[in-house]
Amino acid sequence: MVKKINFLDLKKINERDRAEIDFAVREVIDSGWYLLGKKTDEFEMNFADFCGAQHCVSVGNGLEALELILKAFDIGINDEVIIPSNTYIATALAVSSNGAKPVFVEPDEKTFNIDPSLIEKSITNKTKAIIVVHLYGQVVDMDPIIEIANKYNLKIIEDSAQAHGSVYKNNKRTGNLADASGFSFYPGKNLGALGDGGAVVTNDNELALKIRTLRNYGSEIKYHHNYKGINSRLDEIQAAILDVKLKRLDSDNTRRREISKYYRNNIKNTSIVLPEVSCCENSHVWHLFVVKVNDRDNFQQFLLQNGIATSVHYPIPMHKQNAYKELYDYRLPISEKLSKEICSLPISPVMTDQEVDYVIEVVNKW
Ligand SMILES: *Cc1c(COP(=O)(O)O)cnc(C)c1O
Repeated sequence: MVKKINFLDLKKINERDRAEIDFAVREVIDSGWYLLGKKTDEFEMNFADFCGAQHCVSVGNGLEALELILKAFDIGINDEVIIPSNTYIATALAVSSNGAKPVFVEPDEKTFNIDPSLIEKSITNKTKAIIVVHLYGQVVDMDPIIEIANKYNLKIIEDSAQAHGSVYKNNKRTGNLADASGFSFYPGKNLGALGDGGAVVTNDNELALKIRTLRNYGSEIKYHHNYKGINSRLDEIQAAILDVKLKRLDSDNTRRREISKYYRNNIKNTSIVLPEVSCCENSHVWHLFVVKVNDRDNFQQFLLQNGIATSVHYPIPMHKQNAYKELYDYRLPISEKLSKEICSLPISPVMTDQEVDYVIEVVNKW
Protein backbone atom coordinates (compact mmCIF):
# COMPACT_ATOMS: atom_id res chain seq x y z
CA MET A 1 0.00 0.00 0.00
CA VAL A 2 1.18 3.54 -0.80
CA LYS A 3 2.10 5.43 2.32
CA LYS A 4 2.92 9.01 1.35
CA ILE A 5 1.86 11.15 -1.59
CA ASN A 6 3.34 14.64 -1.97
CA PHE A 7 1.23 17.38 -3.44
CA LEU A 8 3.89 17.91 -6.10
CA ASP A 9 7.26 16.14 -6.34
CA LEU A 10 9.46 18.61 -8.22
CA LYS A 11 12.62 16.60 -7.69
CA LYS A 12 11.05 13.58 -9.37
CA ILE A 13 9.73 15.74 -12.21
CA ASN A 14 13.17 17.21 -12.96
CA GLU A 15 15.09 13.98 -12.35
CA ARG A 16 13.57 12.58 -15.56
CA ASP A 17 15.63 15.06 -17.62
CA ARG A 18 18.61 15.20 -15.31
CA ALA A 19 21.29 14.23 -17.83
CA GLU A 20 20.08 16.68 -20.47
CA ILE A 21 19.63 19.48 -17.93
CA ASP A 22 23.13 18.91 -16.53
CA PHE A 23 24.55 19.05 -20.06
CA ALA A 24 22.60 22.21 -20.98
CA VAL A 25 23.63 24.02 -17.80
CA ARG A 26 27.27 23.08 -18.38
CA GLU A 27 27.07 24.43 -21.93
CA VAL A 28 25.86 27.79 -20.62
CA ILE A 29 28.55 27.95 -17.96
CA ASP A 30 31.21 27.12 -20.53
CA SER A 31 29.87 29.66 -23.03
CA GLY A 32 30.69 32.60 -20.75
CA TRP A 33 27.40 34.30 -21.80
CA TYR A 34 24.66 34.36 -19.15
CA LEU A 35 21.85 36.70 -20.23
CA LEU A 36 19.98 37.28 -23.52
CA GLY A 37 22.09 34.89 -25.54
CA LYS A 38 21.68 31.91 -27.85
CA LYS A 39 19.76 29.72 -25.38
CA THR A 40 17.23 32.48 -24.77
CA ASP A 41 16.75 33.01 -28.52
CA GLU A 42 16.27 29.28 -29.09
CA PHE A 43 13.80 28.86 -26.27
CA GLU A 44 11.82 31.92 -27.33
CA MET A 45 11.51 30.53 -30.87
CA ASN A 46 10.51 27.08 -29.67
CA PHE A 47 7.95 28.34 -27.16
CA ALA A 48 6.36 30.71 -29.70
CA ASP A 49 6.09 27.68 -32.05
CA PHE A 50 4.57 25.58 -29.29
CA CYS A 51 1.86 28.22 -28.79
CA GLY A 52 1.41 28.67 -32.52
CA ALA A 53 2.17 32.38 -32.14
CA GLN A 54 4.59 34.78 -33.85
CA HIS A 55 6.59 36.05 -30.88
CA CYS A 56 7.78 34.96 -27.48
CA VAL A 57 9.66 37.46 -25.33
CA SER A 58 11.06 35.83 -22.22
CA VAL A 59 11.06 37.81 -18.96
CA GLY A 60 11.92 37.36 -15.30
CA ASN A 61 8.64 35.85 -14.10
CA GLY A 62 4.90 35.59 -14.75
CA LEU A 63 3.93 38.68 -12.77
CA GLU A 64 6.32 40.85 -14.76
CA ALA A 65 5.08 39.34 -18.03
CA LEU A 66 1.59 40.70 -17.21
CA GLU A 67 2.95 44.01 -15.88
CA LEU A 68 4.98 44.56 -19.03
CA ILE A 69 2.02 43.83 -21.32
CA LEU A 70 -0.08 46.49 -19.54
CA LYS A 71 2.85 48.91 -19.55
CA ALA A 72 3.42 48.35 -23.26
CA PHE A 73 -0.27 49.10 -23.91
CA ASP A 74 0.15 52.32 -21.85
CA ILE A 75 -2.46 51.18 -19.34
CA GLY A 76 -1.95 52.86 -15.96
CA ILE A 77 -3.22 55.66 -13.74
CA ASN A 78 -6.97 56.42 -14.13
CA ASP A 79 -7.51 53.24 -16.13
CA GLU A 80 -9.54 50.20 -15.13
CA VAL A 81 -8.81 46.61 -16.04
CA ILE A 82 -11.35 43.84 -15.67
CA ILE A 83 -9.98 40.69 -14.06
CA PRO A 84 -11.57 37.57 -12.59
CA SER A 85 -12.19 37.74 -8.84
CA ASN A 86 -11.20 34.07 -8.65
CA THR A 87 -7.49 33.96 -9.46
CA TYR A 88 -4.02 34.15 -7.94
CA ILE A 89 -3.18 37.63 -6.64
CA ALA A 90 -0.51 38.18 -9.33
CA THR A 91 -3.25 39.01 -11.85
CA ALA A 92 -4.46 41.92 -9.68
CA LEU A 93 -0.94 43.03 -8.72
CA ALA A 94 0.02 43.42 -12.37
CA VAL A 95 -2.84 45.90 -12.74
CA SER A 96 -2.34 47.87 -9.54
CA SER A 97 1.45 48.07 -9.85
CA ASN A 98 0.89 49.96 -13.11
CA GLY A 99 -1.36 52.40 -11.23
CA ALA A 100 -4.58 51.07 -12.78
CA LYS A 101 -7.58 49.73 -10.87
CA PRO A 102 -8.48 46.03 -10.93
CA VAL A 103 -12.23 45.52 -11.39
CA PHE A 104 -13.33 42.08 -10.24
CA VAL A 105 -15.80 39.91 -12.15
CA GLU A 106 -17.20 36.74 -10.61
CA PRO A 107 -16.54 33.23 -11.97
CA ASP A 108 -18.86 30.62 -13.39
CA GLU A 109 -19.10 28.14 -10.52
CA LYS A 110 -18.74 25.15 -12.84
CA THR A 111 -15.58 26.16 -14.70
CA PHE A 112 -14.06 28.43 -11.99
CA ASN A 113 -13.26 30.84 -14.86
CA ILE A 114 -14.55 34.38 -15.39
CA ASP A 115 -18.25 34.39 -16.32
CA PRO A 116 -18.42 36.20 -19.70
CA SER A 117 -22.07 37.16 -19.12
CA LEU A 118 -21.07 39.33 -16.13
CA ILE A 119 -18.35 41.32 -17.87
CA GLU A 120 -20.36 43.91 -19.77
CA LYS A 121 -21.97 45.53 -16.74
CA SER A 122 -18.54 46.12 -15.18
CA ILE A 123 -17.30 48.18 -18.13
CA THR A 124 -17.00 51.95 -17.61
CA ASN A 125 -15.48 54.69 -19.75
CA LYS A 126 -12.21 54.04 -17.87
CA THR A 127 -12.00 50.37 -18.83
CA LYS A 128 -9.01 49.64 -21.08
CA ALA A 129 -8.57 45.89 -20.99
CA ILE A 130 -9.85 42.52 -19.83
CA ILE A 131 -7.42 40.00 -18.37
CA VAL A 132 -8.70 36.44 -18.69
CA VAL A 133 -7.10 33.74 -16.54
CA HIS A 134 -7.19 30.15 -17.76
CA LEU A 135 -7.51 29.02 -14.18
CA TYR A 136 -6.28 25.59 -13.05
CA GLY A 137 -5.36 24.90 -16.71
CA GLN A 138 -8.78 25.23 -18.35
CA VAL A 139 -9.07 27.59 -21.27
CA VAL A 140 -11.56 30.47 -20.89
CA ASP A 141 -14.52 30.64 -23.27
CA MET A 142 -13.01 33.37 -25.45
CA ASP A 143 -15.61 34.03 -28.17
CA PRO A 144 -18.13 36.02 -26.08
CA ILE A 145 -15.26 37.97 -24.51
CA ILE A 146 -13.75 38.83 -27.88
CA GLU A 147 -17.18 40.09 -28.94
CA ILE A 148 -17.41 42.39 -25.90
CA ALA A 149 -13.83 43.61 -26.34
CA ASN A 150 -14.51 44.48 -29.98
CA LYS A 151 -17.71 46.33 -29.06
CA TYR A 152 -15.97 48.51 -26.43
CA ASN A 153 -12.54 48.61 -28.08
CA LEU A 154 -10.74 46.87 -25.21
CA LYS A 155 -7.53 44.86 -25.20
CA ILE A 156 -7.72 41.23 -24.11
CA ILE A 157 -4.77 39.85 -22.19
CA GLU A 158 -4.41 36.19 -21.29
CA ASP A 159 -2.95 35.13 -17.96
CA SER A 160 -1.72 31.72 -19.12
CA ALA A 161 0.44 31.02 -16.07
CA GLN A 162 -1.50 27.81 -15.34
CA ALA A 163 -2.34 26.77 -18.88
CA HIS A 164 0.68 26.04 -21.08
CA GLY A 165 -0.73 24.08 -24.00
CA SER A 166 -4.52 24.22 -23.41
CA VAL A 167 -6.43 24.34 -26.66
CA TYR A 168 -9.51 26.49 -27.38
CA LYS A 169 -12.21 24.71 -29.41
CA ASN A 170 -9.77 22.15 -30.85
CA ASN A 171 -8.09 24.97 -32.66
CA LYS A 172 -5.68 27.43 -31.07
CA ARG A 173 -3.54 27.21 -27.97
CA THR A 174 -3.24 29.68 -25.12
CA GLY A 175 -0.78 32.38 -26.04
CA ASN A 176 -2.55 32.72 -29.36
CA LEU A 177 -6.07 33.65 -28.25
CA ALA A 178 -5.86 37.38 -27.51
CA ASP A 179 -3.76 40.54 -27.95
CA ALA A 180 -1.03 39.19 -25.69
CA SER A 181 -0.48 36.43 -23.18
CA GLY A 182 1.61 36.20 -20.02
CA PHE A 183 3.18 32.88 -19.01
CA SER A 184 4.97 31.86 -15.83
CA PHE A 185 7.70 29.24 -15.58
CA TYR A 186 7.65 29.12 -11.79
CA PRO A 187 9.00 25.65 -10.85
CA GLY A 188 5.57 24.19 -10.05
CA LYS A 189 3.83 25.21 -13.30
CA ASN A 190 3.20 22.71 -16.09
CA LEU A 191 6.37 24.03 -17.73
CA GLY A 192 8.64 25.02 -14.85
CA ALA A 193 12.20 26.33 -14.63
CA LEU A 194 14.56 25.61 -11.75
CA GLY A 195 13.94 29.12 -10.51
CA ASP A 196 11.84 32.05 -11.72
CA GLY A 197 10.95 32.67 -15.32
CA GLY A 198 8.18 34.02 -17.53
CA ALA A 199 7.28 35.06 -21.06
CA VAL A 200 5.03 37.26 -23.12
CA VAL A 201 3.59 35.57 -26.20
CA THR A 202 1.88 37.62 -28.91
CA ASN A 203 1.22 37.97 -32.63
CA ASP A 204 1.61 41.76 -32.42
CA ASN A 205 4.99 42.75 -33.95
CA GLU A 206 5.04 46.20 -32.43
CA LEU A 207 4.09 45.00 -28.97
CA ALA A 208 6.72 42.24 -29.05
CA LEU A 209 9.47 44.71 -29.90
CA LYS A 210 8.30 47.14 -27.23
CA ILE A 211 8.33 44.43 -24.55
CA ARG A 212 11.73 43.18 -25.74
CA THR A 213 12.93 46.72 -25.13
CA LEU A 214 11.05 47.33 -21.86
CA ARG A 215 12.35 44.14 -20.22
CA ASN A 216 15.92 45.35 -20.78
CA TYR A 217 15.94 48.89 -19.34
CA GLY A 218 13.97 50.26 -22.28
CA SER A 219 17.00 49.71 -24.44
CA GLU A 220 17.21 48.12 -27.87
CA ILE A 221 20.73 49.33 -28.58
CA LYS A 222 23.08 49.22 -25.62
CA TYR A 223 23.09 52.51 -23.65
CA HIS A 224 20.32 54.01 -25.82
CA HIS A 225 17.06 54.07 -23.83
CA ASN A 226 13.74 54.59 -25.60
CA TYR A 227 11.49 53.92 -22.60
CA LYS A 228 11.69 53.93 -18.82
CA GLY A 229 12.02 50.17 -18.83
CA ILE A 230 12.72 47.63 -16.12
CA ASN A 231 15.11 44.74 -15.65
CA SER A 232 13.15 41.54 -16.27
CA ARG A 233 15.28 39.04 -18.15
CA LEU A 234 15.23 35.26 -18.20
CA ASP A 235 18.61 33.70 -17.31
CA GLU A 236 20.38 31.78 -20.08
CA ILE A 237 20.61 28.83 -17.70
CA GLN A 238 16.84 28.84 -17.14
CA ALA A 239 16.18 29.23 -20.87
CA ALA A 240 18.41 26.22 -21.56
CA ILE A 241 16.60 24.14 -18.93
CA LEU A 242 13.16 25.22 -20.19
CA ASP A 243 14.13 24.25 -23.74
CA VAL A 244 14.96 20.74 -22.52
CA LYS A 245 11.72 20.47 -20.54
CA LEU A 246 9.54 21.91 -23.33
CA LYS A 247 10.02 18.68 -25.31
CA ARG A 248 8.12 16.86 -22.59
CA LEU A 249 5.28 19.33 -22.14
CA ASP A 250 2.78 17.69 -24.52
CA SER A 251 3.26 14.22 -23.09
CA ASP A 252 3.17 15.58 -19.54
CA ASN A 253 -0.14 17.31 -20.28
CA THR A 254 -1.46 14.08 -21.78
CA ARG A 255 -0.56 12.25 -18.60
CA ARG A 256 -2.29 14.93 -16.50
CA ARG A 257 -5.44 14.49 -18.61
CA GLU A 258 -5.26 10.75 -18.14
CA ILE A 259 -5.04 11.10 -14.36
CA SER A 260 -7.85 13.65 -14.30
CA LYS A 261 -10.08 11.37 -16.32
CA TYR A 262 -9.32 8.48 -14.04
CA TYR A 263 -10.12 10.62 -10.98
CA ARG A 264 -13.35 11.83 -12.55
CA ASN A 265 -14.42 8.30 -13.48
CA ASN A 266 -13.54 6.65 -10.21
CA ILE A 267 -14.08 9.12 -7.39
CA LYS A 268 -17.58 8.17 -6.35
CA ASN A 269 -18.12 10.06 -3.13
CA THR A 270 -21.40 11.98 -3.13
CA SER A 271 -20.08 14.66 -0.75
CA ILE A 272 -17.44 15.66 -3.30
CA VAL A 273 -18.15 17.74 -6.40
CA LEU A 274 -15.71 16.88 -9.19
CA PRO A 275 -14.39 19.40 -11.72
CA GLU A 276 -15.93 19.33 -15.19
CA VAL A 277 -14.47 20.00 -18.60
CA SER A 278 -16.74 22.52 -20.27
CA CYS A 279 -15.59 21.93 -23.84
CA CYS A 280 -13.14 19.45 -25.32
CA GLU A 281 -10.71 17.24 -23.41
CA ASN A 282 -7.71 19.18 -24.74
CA SER A 283 -9.12 22.49 -23.47
CA HIS A 284 -7.72 21.61 -20.03
CA VAL A 285 -4.14 20.82 -19.03
CA TRP A 286 -5.00 20.14 -15.37
CA HIS A 287 -2.39 22.29 -13.68
CA LEU A 288 -4.60 21.66 -10.66
CA PHE A 289 -7.37 19.16 -9.95
CA VAL A 290 -9.83 21.10 -7.82
CA VAL A 291 -12.82 19.48 -6.12
CA LYS A 292 -15.50 21.11 -3.99
CA VAL A 293 -16.33 19.83 -0.54
CA ASN A 294 -18.41 21.31 2.28
CA ASP A 295 -16.40 20.06 5.20
CA ARG A 296 -13.00 20.94 3.77
CA ASP A 297 -10.91 21.06 6.94
CA ASN A 298 -11.95 17.56 7.91
CA PHE A 299 -11.50 16.30 4.37
CA GLN A 300 -7.94 17.63 4.18
CA GLN A 301 -7.21 16.28 7.65
CA PHE A 302 -8.49 12.83 6.71
CA LEU A 303 -6.38 12.72 3.55
CA LEU A 304 -3.31 13.90 5.44
CA GLN A 305 -3.78 11.19 8.06
CA ASN A 306 -3.67 8.76 5.17
CA GLY A 307 -0.46 10.29 3.82
CA ILE A 308 -2.00 12.41 1.05
CA ALA A 309 -1.08 16.11 0.84
CA THR A 310 -3.68 18.52 -0.55
CA SER A 311 -3.74 22.28 -1.01
CA VAL A 312 -6.19 25.18 -1.52
CA HIS A 313 -6.01 27.53 -4.52
CA TYR A 314 -6.88 29.99 -3.03
CA PRO A 315 -8.16 30.23 0.56
CA ILE A 316 -8.72 34.03 0.70
CA PRO A 317 -10.23 35.96 -2.21
CA MET A 318 -8.24 39.01 -3.29
CA HIS A 319 -10.77 41.59 -2.08
CA LYS A 320 -10.45 40.09 1.42
CA GLN A 321 -6.65 40.37 1.47
CA ASN A 322 -4.98 43.07 3.59
CA ALA A 323 -3.14 44.15 0.44
CA TYR A 324 -6.45 45.23 -1.12
CA LYS A 325 -8.19 46.82 1.87
CA GLU A 326 -9.61 49.49 -0.44
CA LEU A 327 -11.57 46.77 -2.28
CA TYR A 328 -12.86 45.07 0.86
CA ASP A 329 -16.45 46.17 0.30
CA TYR A 330 -16.80 44.33 -2.99
CA ARG A 331 -19.69 41.87 -2.95
CA LEU A 332 -18.40 38.66 -4.53
CA PRO A 333 -20.48 35.85 -3.04
CA ILE A 334 -19.45 33.18 -5.58
CA SER A 335 -15.71 33.76 -5.06
CA GLU A 336 -16.18 33.87 -1.30
CA LYS A 337 -18.14 30.62 -1.30
CA LEU A 338 -15.66 28.87 -3.60
CA SER A 339 -12.70 29.89 -1.44
CA LYS A 340 -14.26 27.95 1.44
CA GLU A 341 -15.12 24.79 -0.52
CA ILE A 342 -12.31 24.20 -2.99
CA CYS A 343 -9.57 21.66 -2.42
CA SER A 344 -6.76 20.65 -4.79
CA LEU A 345 -5.90 16.94 -4.99
CA PRO A 346 -2.41 15.88 -6.08
CA ILE A 347 -1.99 15.66 -9.85
CA SER A 348 1.30 15.56 -11.70
CA PRO A 349 2.85 13.73 -14.64
CA VAL A 350 5.10 11.69 -12.34
CA MET A 351 2.30 10.18 -10.25
CA THR A 352 2.10 6.43 -10.74
CA ASP A 353 -1.14 4.55 -11.46
CA GLN A 354 -0.78 2.99 -8.04
CA GLU A 355 -0.62 6.41 -6.37
CA VAL A 356 -3.65 7.64 -8.30
CA ASP A 357 -5.57 4.52 -7.26
CA TYR A 358 -4.61 5.11 -3.65
CA VAL A 359 -5.86 8.72 -3.70
CA ILE A 360 -9.17 7.50 -5.16
CA GLU A 361 -9.45 4.77 -2.53
CA VAL A 362 -8.90 7.21 0.35
CA VAL A 363 -11.18 9.90 -1.09
CA ASN A 364 -13.95 7.34 -1.56
CA LYS A 365 -13.50 6.15 2.01
CA TRP A 366 -14.05 9.65 3.47
C1 LIG B 1 1.86 31.59 -11.02
C2 LIG B 1 0.88 32.59 -11.46
C3 LIG B 1 1.26 33.90 -11.81
C4 LIG B 1 2.60 34.50 -11.52
O1 LIG B 1 3.69 33.84 -11.96
P1 LIG B 1 5.12 34.07 -11.25
O2 LIG B 1 6.08 33.52 -12.23
O3 LIG B 1 5.11 33.37 -9.95
O4 LIG B 1 5.31 35.55 -11.09
C5 LIG B 1 0.30 34.72 -12.37
N1 LIG B 1 -0.96 34.32 -12.53
C6 LIG B 1 -1.37 33.09 -12.18
C7 LIG B 1 -2.79 32.69 -12.42
C8 LIG B 1 -0.47 32.18 -11.62
O5 LIG B 1 -0.88 30.97 -11.25
